[in-house]
Amino acid sequence: MNKLSEQIYDLIVRTSTEIPEDVETALQRAAEHEKNADNSLAFDQLTLMLENISLARETARPLCQDTGVINFYVDVPVSFDKVEFIAAAEEAILRATGEGILRKNSVCSLSGKNSGTNLGVGAPAFYWGESDCEIRIKLLLKGGGSENVGIQYSLPDTSLNADRDLDGVRRCILDAVKKAQGKGCPPSIISVAIGGDRALGYATSKKAFFRKIGERSKNPELAKFEKTVLKEINSLGIGTMGLGGDITSLDLFVTALNRHPASFFVTVSQMCWSCRRGELVVS
Ligand code: SF4
Repeated sequence: MNKLSEQIYDLIVRTSTEIPEDVETALQRAAEHEKNADNSLAFDQLTLMLENISLARETARPLCQDTGVINFYVDVPVSFDKVEFIAAAEEAILRATGEGILRKNSVCSLSGKNSGTNLGVGAPAFYWGESDCEIRIKLLLKGGGSENVGIQYSLPDTSLNADRDLDGVRRCILDAVKKAQGKGCPPSIISVAIGGDRALGYATSKKAFFRKIGERSKNPELAKFEKTVLKEINSLGIGTMGLGGDITSLDLFVTALNRHPASFFVTVSQMCWSCRRGELVVS
């Protein structure tokens, strides 16, 4: 294993076994809230999640049995050999899969056969960007349950009474959360892309899961919108794992992209409580 492969392996282990500090703090706050609000089922579930987080960290075992879809976001200098990076990442994935840090999660869509390696066509997923002189690696392990409740709307949508404006976007977000109920393992983090084309909508909303809990949009109008709609989501009573309570989502991130005049997509991605994101910079 070369040095880059070792570093990527370490990133995989850290991401699969240690929840980011801001997410853990948000879950602790949610537990305290539900305890005081006497939402005992939600409180019990959140307590279990927090115990699970501590155990996973102490024993270096995965936070959840589903270690998710492997997404790499990599910024490299123009002269960097991407083939070299892919080979190093694949070696790291093979090792992590062999050790049970990653579940065998990559299945051929035609035969249904599991490669057993987490490698295959489109697995892992790589999203490339450019950097000056260092390699910046972001890793998102996204649970299948939370991925399944992602949804894309095309406005106007008469069934939701949603026009091509922020109120229409709000209606889509609330509809997506109501449709998901406890599926996707809430308390969730919701990330929304307004505009773009269909593919860019999903790519953008998923990449925004690297924002920290409480990090508001730099656009003041969207920052206000995020706060207001998050309150509405949490008034739906869906709660932790759909068992009721005041905290259905820990945060809401919204990004606006330009769009074609004929299209107005609203893409809603959801991340489960087991939000696994990790970062690494290699000089
Ligand atoms: S959605 Fe998330 S928490 Fe639920 S089973 Fe999948 S990875 Fe685990």
